[in-house]
Amino acid sequence: MVRRMATVATTTTTERLTSYNPSTGEAIGSVPIHTQADVDAAVARARVAATSWSALSFGARAEEMVAFRKALAAHADELAELLHRENGKPELEALTEVMMALGHIQHATARAEAAMAPRRVSAGLLANFRATISYHPLGVIGVIGPWNYPLFTPMGSIAYALAAGNAVVWKPSELTPLVATKVAEIAQKTFALTDLLQVVTGAGATGAALAKSAVDKISFTGSAATGKRVMLAASERLTPVLMELGGKDPMVVAEDADLDKAAEACVYGALTNAGQACISVERVYVADAIHDKFVDKVVENVRALRVGGDDGHLGAMTSPAQVAIVKDHLEDAVAKGAKVVTGGVDAISGNYIQPTVLTGVDHHMKVMRDETFGPVIPIQRVGSLDEAVKLANDTSYGLGSSVFAGKAARTIANRLRAGMTSVNSVMAFAGIPSLPFGGVGDSGFGRIHGDEGIREFTRIKSTAEQVVALPLNMLSFRQPKDMTKRLRGMIKQLYGEGVMARAADLWRKLT
Ligand code: NAD
Repeated sequence: MVRRMATVATTTTTERLTSYNPSTGEAIGSVPIHTQADVDAAVARARVAATSWSALSFGARAEEMVAFRKALAAHADELAELLHRENGKPELEALTEVMMALGHIQHATARAEAAMAPRRVSAGLLANFRATISYHPLGVIGVIGPWNYPLFTPMGSIAYALAAGNAVVWKPSELTPLVATKVAEIAQKTFALTDLLQVVTGAGATGAALAKSAVDKISFTGSAATGKRVMLAASERLTPVLMELGGKDPMVVAEDADLDKAAEACVYGALTNAGQACISVERVYVADAIHDKFVDKVVENVRALRVGGDDGHLGAMTSPAQVAIVKDHLEDAVAKGAKVVTGGVDAISGNYIQPTVLTGVDHHMKVMRDETFGPVIPIQRVGSLDEAVKLANDTSYGLGSSVFAGKAARTIANRLRAGMTSVNSVMAFAGIPSLPFGGVGDSGFGRIHGDEGIREFTRIKSTAEQVVALPLNMLSFRQPKDMTKRLRGMIKQLYGEGVMARAADLWRKLT
């Protein structure tokens, strides 16, 4: 018998997809291009695995999840090397990504049982009932991932879906398929059920095949435009979707902020992964009084950075298409009056972009409205914190955000319309596995990470169990003759001006 390979076994085409190193342009490997038939077969196999996996106790699943985590940790260098070569990010960032992904596997494993514990709730008027909410695995989860964090981002769904008792079929980005294939190979060697975590490879068509397949939920991470196509395809079977989409994250810097810390964090938040993060700092609003000083500090930090090399601060951009978008945003900004303080269009060379700081920007410019996804820091001067909040919320996106301020920090944070906010820090919410991760508006809906991220991959079951029978049974056609009259009285008593309704309202006010 032939043992199945790491990715989906049977492919109905001989076509292959090549993965390239964006720093050098060299081909570093190839993977099959899976068709609809291949994807459907993978989902069918996953369904069998899901049935066995969901029947295990939390403890038994946790043991296998721990083994999986340890096996990945043992291959950390190899995974980081693949991330470095496929995505272009520097070695340190690649290893950081591996570490963060492992943290989520550990967290999801540790929390699954508690997050899915059945809960008793009040039975209200039906006081003779025991009311319980319980959570059950959905079955098979289709995960479609992006190229910017090829391991960390999909793992935010995969780890939580597995820990909740589901099987997973994962379609990585066509730009970074090798990392996923390696993870699938490790999973196949670790889990007793070899079809528990499968990878299907290919470009958009393979992703579309997964969205159309018989999965029980699609967890999609990518652009809003593709997200809409995924929803449309999933709607054929009414398959629920979780959408982790793009962002245009604002940073607000108040007059009383610690400027050194704010500048350092701004530079990291905007430039890590060469700005190709969904939660990158994409626009900065700085109080008038400290604007110039802040810009100076940012520029000083930026000029200390090295671009390129295995251990540089910024690596190559992952795709020439993204370089073109950044160039377009810079040209548009300059044409509309922005000032290039450092970097700029002339500092783009092949897949490398020197970090660029812009001032004099406004919301007529693409760089302040559309996702730039590159190493650009546009800084806008604001006259008040109200103006900063108004501008920060002037976006169709709503993923992450950050605030640097003294007294008003929390108040500003609460006013930002975003799924996540870091106060006196950037991106910290992504490194805290117990915090749910996700956005609003064009940034998507649903949550990965945290207990909410576990329950995303469950179905909710409500159970009403009659504990004792009462003489008056509303759930029967056999009712006393005067029931209509009694009901009128009850409505008044319970919900109108009756003593019981007033007592309940008073209780609500007092407690
Ligand atoms: P993308 O939308 O181009 O592709 C994402 C994935 O969808 C890829 O695997 C791709 O092959 C697949 N795909 C393409 N067409 C498809 C179709 N018709 N049906 C199904 N799948 C299809 O996104 P990208 O360029 O890979 O990633 C960058 C985007 O992802 C940015 O907008 C970024 O902000 C966003 N992102 C969001 C998060 C988050 O958690 N919110 C995290 C990382 C990246």
